[in-house]
Amino acid sequence: MNDIKTTLRNLSPQEKMTLTSGHDFWSSEPLYPHNIPSFRMSDGPHGLRYQAQAGDHLGLNKSVPSTSFPTASASACTWDLDLLYQMGQGIAKEAQSCQVDMVLGPGVNIKRNPLCGRNFEYFSEDPYLAGQLGASWINGLQDQGIAACLKHFACNNQENDRLLSDSLVDPVALHELYLEAFRIAVEQSQPESIMCAYNKINGTYASDNYYLLTEVLRRQWGFKGAVITDWGALNNKVKAINAGTDLEMPSSQHMFDQAALADLKTGELSAQALDRAARHVITLARQPRPKFEGDRSVLLTQNATLAQKIAENSIVLLKNTAHILPLQPTDKLLVVGEMAQHTRYQGAGSSHINPPAAISIIAGLKSENIQFNYQVGYRFDNQQTTALAAAARQSAQEADKVILVLGLPEVAESEGFDRTSLDLPANQNDLVDQLAQVNPNLIILLVAGAPVTLPWLDQTKGLLNLYLNGENVGKACARILNGQVNPSGKLAETYPIAYKDVPSAQTYDHNTRSVAYEESLYVGYRYYDKANVAVNFPFGFGLSYTTFKLAQLQRDTTHIAPGQQLTLSVALTNTGPIAGQEVVQVYVGADPKAPLTPLTALKAFQKVPLAPGETKTVTFTLPAQAFMQWDPDLEQWRLPKGSRRLYVGTSSRNLPLETVVTLDGATSVRTQALPQWYITPVGYPNATDFELLSGLRAKPMLATPVGAFTAMNTPRELSKGSLPVRQITNLIRHYQTKDLADPKGSEAQFMDKIILDTPLIRLSQQTQGQFSLPMLKRLVALANHNYWRALVGK
Ligand code: BGC
Repeated sequence: MNDIKTTLRNLSPQEKMTLTSGHDFWSSEPLYPHNIPSFRMSDGPHGLRYQAQAGDHLGLNKSVPSTSFPTASASACTWDLDLLYQMGQGIAKEAQSCQVDMVLGPGVNIKRNPLCGRNFEYFSEDPYLAGQLGASWINGLQDQGIAACLKHFACNNQENDRLLSDSLVDPVALHELYLEAFRIAVEQSQPESIMCAYNKINGTYASDNYYLLTEVLRRQWGFKGAVITDWGALNNKVKAINAGTDLEMPSSQHMFDQAALADLKTGELSAQALDRAARHVITLARQPRPKFEGDRSVLLTQNATLAQKIAENSIVLLKNTAHILPLQPTDKLLVVGEMAQHTRYQGAGSSHINPPAAISIIAGLKSENIQFNYQVGYRFDNQQTTALAAAARQSAQEADKVILVLGLPEVAESEGFDRTSLDLPANQNDLVDQLAQVNPNLIILLVAGAPVTLPWLDQTKGLLNLYLNGENVGKACARILNGQVNPSGKLAETYPIAYKDVPSAQTYDHNTRSVAYEESLYVGYRYYDKANVAVNFPFGFGLSYTTFKLAQLQRDTTHIAPGQQLTLSVALTNTGPIAGQEVVQVYVGADPKAPLTPLTALKAFQKVPLAPGETKTVTFTLPAQAFMQWDPDLEQWRLPKGSRRLYVGTSSRNLPLETVVTLDGATSVRTQALPQWYITPVGYPNATDFELLSGLRAKPMLATPVGAFTAMNTPRELSKGSLPVRQITNLIRHYQTKDLADPKGSEAQFMDKIILDTPLIRLSQQTQGQFSLPMLKRLVALANHNYWRALVGK
């Protein structure tokens, strides 16, 4: 076989171009005469979604049975890099067994706002934690010879209008918050590929973004792999290849190739950039991938055990008044809630897995021989609320303890759209009230992919947070309830008290196409802690059935300069009666009055298992990078000059130990005075302050008038002024949803939303040209009331 250089020399421009678009929904284009095979991709971050037949990017068509691992919001709560590595390894073996070459994951986007419908697929509000977890997952996967595709690069922090939205972000927040997890994952695991997001960043689509794809990703971080578009995210083929995109997915049936070839002739498309793109695709295609030799059913059993272990390590004990947990064998128990029976264990969309089996909470309790009575109490669809609640209340009077399982129904959170409220359904919250009135021993189990409000927090003695915890959630939960497993999960995001406390509450999803990230880097604990806002539970928080003590913080140096590192050590003791695990967290502090700096930022952590009474010395090495800040004037990282506090503890709000280190860096040359909100953030920022900080301001969202519609408008927009377009759109929706089990269920809603809010040209790309360009042109003409054009198709 020729080396890649020679192959490139032998390829015609047309052939090179062919390589830069996919072959079908899941595979790349082969060129067999040149020894370039096709490579196969599959979702996703929590398990393999391998579709042997019809492909879709919404997780609707059935996929081959595979292990459903805990979703990222759950697995993040393990704070356990080794478990994330093992998850990557487990998924890689399932990929090998299906001849899948690349797995589309993990997602390391920052949870800017708890209402993002896809937050269950992301790890954290903190970039250090998200980056480390993502890197471990990738290393686990790639060490088995399967390629990862890190996603969604970048600033894809909302689902509504994700194909049209423009994320307006200032440079400090961009680098210190939104890019940081990607930087860490790229530098520590060199993923073979990265997926550029659907949205724009500061006015430029991610796929066209030279600054992000070439300047930052390749030049600054040294990324060696391929840039692949999210499914249908290619905006402009010529700009995209020039900017650093290598492969358009899925196949758009090469609808843009001829025009791009013409631009190659004029020099508009750089020949060098086309070579780079082709080279990256060939590299992936030629990479030998290990074959799976074993028995797939044995592998699925092993991975189910691993999924359970990860779940057991991720469940977070948030409240345990009077040691209501673990349960005692003599406890007379009542379990309540539809969620106990139909326990959600994953979210909807492209990460949707089809596992061989899933264990609900009820099934899990039974498998652990825990005796209990059961009452439904409420239904997701809000039917018979009064009668069901009354029956549960009646039974609760006879129980020693009531385990009430609450959570978000599937229709509430999904890829493709955002949540509309931070609250649980009202019938669930009301039920807590009813049960608390008759039984003081309430234990609430929470099943949701993201934070919810907890208006009943004072009324419950126990609270366990399960998130969406994979196929073995029921078993893992039961083993925590009965004390077989000591809970050790820690929150990877803050649980605010009310939605109004969220710093982006005023801008999030209000103007979905031009979104100013006015709060800058004050997201999550970076905001709540600096603004001193009370929260339900802080970042990093989680209880155990035992207790721990931290002491004797020591450091090996008092000064740190660029290129140097610092070693910290601390003694951790299990002061309680049973074995347990604690997560020791190291935060770097800043001058509280310094602009655009959080009070503290996580820079190291370790999960430590300890026997009762045992003490271990836990050691951390912090590189100078841990103290660096993005300097917007120098456009690079800079180690500041001055002293910094270092804090060690067990959450962003419990940092009992501290020390000081002197940074031998350089002072900022910045002379621009920042608006007060960015020095002492209280309440919401405003558009004028943000403009002063960044030069950016959200544009109003204007309706397109009839006559001005283009291929970038959505069916929802086009339908407004045209009955025939409405009818055609309804026909497409009917066609797309007719085979679904429940044509009104969450999948149908998801599909509806996706179809209605996707620009026509992207629909054409995503349907691989089935919704063809001539059809598109006629539809646009129809919407513009240009009936002659619609008829002749010009
Ligand atoms: C999602 C990606 C996914 C792709 C393929 C897109 O809609 O955003 O995360 O990998 O579809 O299913």
